[in-house]
Amino acid sequence: MRMKDSQDWRDEFDFVVIGSGIGGLSGAIAATDWGLKVLIVEKSPSVGGVTAFSAGQLWVGGNFLQESSGIHDTTAKAYHYMDRIALGYNVRQLTKNYCINAPIALKYFADHASMRWKLIDDWPDYYFPEVPHSVPSGRYIEVEPFSAHTLGSFWRSNCQVGPTGGGRLTHDEARRGGGAARQDKEAQQLSAARTASDVRTQGSGLSAALLHGVLERHVAIRTATAAEQLLVQDRVIAGIRVRDAGGNVSNVRARRGVLIAAGGYDWNGLANLSYAGLPNVKAAGPSSVTGDGIALAGAVGAQLARIPSPLVPGFRIVGESYRGQPLWRLAAGLLGLPHSIVVNRQGRRFADESFYRSLGFAAAIIDGGSQTFTNLPFWAVMDAQRLARYPLGPIAAGGVLPEGLAMEANSLSELGRQTGIDPVGLELEVARYNAFVATGSDDDFGRGARPWSRVSYGDHQRGGNPNLGTITEPPYFAIPMELVSIGISSVGVAADEHSRALDYRDRPIENLYVAGNTMALRDLGAGYNSGQANTRGMTGGYLAARHAAGDPSRALHDVS
Ligand SMILES: Cc1cc2nc3c(=O)[nH]c(=O)nc-3n(C[C@H](O)[C@H](O)[C@H](O)COP(=O)(O)OP(=O)(O)OC[C@H]3O[C@@H](n4cnc5c(N)ncnc54)[C@H](O)[C@@H]3O)c2cc1C
Repeated sequence: MRMKDSQDWRDEFDFVVIGSGIGGLSGAIAATDWGLKVLIVEKSPSVGGVTAFSAGQLWVGGNFLQESSGIHDTTAKAYHYMDRIALGYNVRQLTKNYCINAPIALKYFADHASMRWKLIDDWPDYYFPEVPHSVPSGRYIEVEPFSAHTLGSFWRSNCQVGPTGGGRLTHDEARRGGGAARQDKEAQQLSAARTASDVRTQGSGLSAALLHGVLERHVAIRTATAAEQLLVQDRVIAGIRVRDAGGNVSNVRARRGVLIAAGGYDWNGLANLSYAGLPNVKAAGPSSVTGDGIALAGAVGAQLARIPSPLVPGFRIVGESYRGQPLWRLAAGLLGLPHSIVVNRQGRRFADESFYRSLGFAAAIIDGGSQTFTNLPFWAVMDAQRLARYPLGPIAAGGVLPEGLAMEANSLSELGRQTGIDPVGLELEVARYNAFVATGSDDDFGRGARPWSRVSYGDHQRGGNPNLGTITEPPYFAIPMELVSIGISSVGVAADEHSRALDYRDRPIENLYVAGNTMALRDLGAGYNSGQANTRGMTGGYLAARHAAGDPSRALHDVS
């Protein structure tokens, strides 16, 4: 919409931020520090976005924390690693930009916004050791436990806590307590004490700590307020139109820029169909993430770009919901533990179950010959040992499965008949898998060979391969899996190294910035390492703020 005169503005700010995930909160902090008057508008009644639901990892090569831990790493090494796994889908200048500016932004928020970062100990890169310049440890970062009481009672209740757990222990504490396989008594007690005193970790701690930085700066925040439209004056983005919870519409001026950090399109079925290229995609983040970023920027001529990004296997416990929406849980941990496999309707395995990206990419394959999805639908098949030994989402080891979660049978062939999985195929596949367990080596898909999977999802008390265990003890169970979006969208708005949105001629749209999942993944390409989604949000917000304030980062050009 074109604005005719200034009388239409109800409020005036320098920098208006849409969305309160890591991209928005980081941008707001930096913009304030660079002298701008900032407003955050957040569609949901609470701040935090998908970020608060996340595991809260960041991934930064050559970061300042490595030095004191005696780890030798450089931004150049991180770049070569990222460039290799991007498979050519990346814009190299943007990959470099990530590698150079992420360590700077990380240090900036530590020094100026009291972000208490720590390294996550001994956590290898996804593709360590096979990809050159991968490292066994030193690039994963998380926040120290953060007391939500420092937010004051209003914001404490209005800053999201992820509904599926992981919000009370750091990654190091969870691993020391037994990891995905179990949590010992000490870890359970610590988690309970932190819940009682509202000390947050992982994504919930990250959001709360960033919000604290925003509140310290007295940034204006309007929750339950959605950006509906970008307003244009003389071909420049001049502000936004917002609608509050009461349905009131007003125009807010943004003298120096608008930052769209509204996430992806997780809860928008049609967008998932068009952009992820798959029907029936589910979502693990908050239901306010519906593709508004793309819609807002697209309406003023921003260029959209698509990069392959797999969805993640997930499941739902019938009846579970969060704020009125069905609650989807990620299955990555569940699938990597021993005594279970993932099969398609032929009863065949199709990927390394201990690495969700292998499953996610493989699940989406279409067989043009039969015009079916080769691997959809798919199921996690497990035996009684699995359920007796390990937790399954919120269900403790040895606990009873809720009604409707799984199909159960005393033989694999009966399980096949109940589910529609080919019974003979399933029996043969389980026998083949059990033979791999006996040798400790999965010759079909290399399950448990990847150090990252062993650390993340292995049973560390087992000898041998920590991700393998036989499927031999009835009853047998099959849990239907779905593909779930975790905010990291295939399609986003193309941006340059200052987070400026680009038009279809690759020209910056004046005063329009994007960060986080609203920004196309052209820095990562088809590669990913957990932590990079949060890191690019933080870095993109920081760079946008500096550019809008008239002091753009020169680091990329100084180093290149
Ligand atoms: C279970 C889970 C675990 C994950 N773990 C990790 C991890 O460990 N490390 C990692 O890097 N990534 C992880 N991710 C992904 C990561 O959390 C997200 O990619 C990232 O946090 C997204 O940040 P963002 O800045 O793009 O915005 P989001 O956090 O997606 O927030 C966007 C915000 O914009 C708001 N909004 C939307 N539309 C409007 C509008 N019109 N007006 C105003 N506000 C609007 C939304 O309500 C939302 O609050 C995980 C995701 C999930 C679901």
